[in-house]
Amino acid sequence: MKKVVKFGGSSLANAEQFRKVKEIITADPARVYVVPSAPGKRSSNDEKVTDLLYKSYELSEKGESIDEILGVIKARYDEIIEGLGLDVSLDEEFEIIKTNYSNKAGVAYAASRGEYLNGVLLAKYLGFPFIDAADVICFNEDDSFNAEKTDAKLQTKLREFDKAVIPGFYGSNSDGFIRTFSRGGSDITGSIVAGAINANIYENWTDVSGFMIADPRIVKNPASIKAITYRELRELSYMGATVLHEDAIFPVRKQGIPINIRNTNCPTDEGTLIVENTCRPSEYIITGIAGKKGFVAINIEKDMMNSEIGFGRKVLEAFEKYGISFEHTPSGIDTFSVLVHQPEFEGREQEVLSELHRSVNPDSVELQTDLALIAVVGRGMRSNHGVAASIFVALAKQGINIRMIDQGSSELNIIFGVKNSDYENAIKAVYDVFITNPSDLLKF
Ligand code: ASP
Repeated sequence: MKKVVKFGGSSLANAEQFRKVKEIITADPARVYVVPSAPGKRSSNDEKVTDLLYKSYELSEKGESIDEILGVIKARYDEIIEGLGLDVSLDEEFEIIKTNYSNKAGVAYAASRGEYLNGVLLAKYLGFPFIDAADVICFNEDDSFNAEKTDAKLQTKLREFDKAVIPGFYGSNSDGFIRTFSRGGSDITGSIVAGAINANIYENWTDVSGFMIADPRIVKNPASIKAITYRELRELSYMGATVLHEDAIFPVRKQGIPINIRNTNCPTDEGTLIVENTCRPSEYIITGIAGKKGFVAINIEKDMMNSEIGFGRKVLEAFEKYGISFEHTPSGIDTFSVLVHQPEFEGREQEVLSELHRSVNPDSVELQTDLALIAVVGRGMRSNHGVAASIFVALAKQGINIRMIDQGSSELNIIFGVKNSDYENAIKAVYDVFITNPSDLLKF
């Protein structure tokens, strides 16, 4: 049994958190490969070391002094070293960092030092070997991730070590330059390591006990999700769930390795298990609700549109031409709507509209702005009738007008659009009917 365990920034923000992490790792001998983030916030008004590193590099690029900010960053690590009574000094490491900054090592190099240094300290504290991610996580020339090369390197390297700490977030390209994933990317590193060694499970330790059914900023104390499939999570994550980096799913999904989201501050909580498939029925009919504000619908009308072959393609091409991705395309017999992110669309609005006029010669084009999209997701919806009816009755009871409806062909989700200003109330209404008062669900 081999587990890969990734600890997020808040789990490694200070010495006290490091102690919790060590306890978790030593509690289970299967927890052999450890992927740390950089120190995160110690309190809500604190700064993440990664953010400080980005700032420091910016200052260095402007030719301003970086002594003070590097001092602040070093103090974060020194606090951990002292708190744990480690016999290490990072003086030399910081000298190297300064030299590399002046040699223009790049912003990715700067950002990566957060994970690198935390990895050095964690390895020392656990008594595990340290493997520099620059030696095993490979990027291509165009900065994309090179999965094949990475898997080969990781497999060879990890055969040498039963246990190891491998910092998250970064790797290097074939020229030896440091490259990083996007923000939150240590989740991806953990998943890559788990995939490469075919781990039994990838544990992702953070500061919440897994995914909540709905955003806790909207629904008070929402219930947590015990088990969710990768597909359900994809449906929810693209709408804005933030616990796990979206791209962290792919390396483990290929091999059916489950991800377990766990809480470092509450290690006895089971957290959320993300799996390829499960026969565990979800506790409720729906697994989760997520959404996002800030969409605009471009509603195109044209008589006899349905018999005009290529109409949809031409419409979508107008968006493609200006680099705007679409979210949904609900259509009627003579109408075709395209839903896109409003901020993305605003800058190119007039160009897209004139392109549409040129290419499909519509009778009218109308814009519906300030829409929010909400996805209600759940594998339990497939086997239950009346789910959509219950959602829409719940919304109607709150006086919320539905602007658009789209049910994915997988029957895994129902997506609807409401006014931005109805967003929170709509989520609350759906949560209440399925989770708080399921006895209010319509019976047929
Ligand atoms: N430290 C990096 C960030 O703040 C990566 C990570 O924590 O996953 O984005």
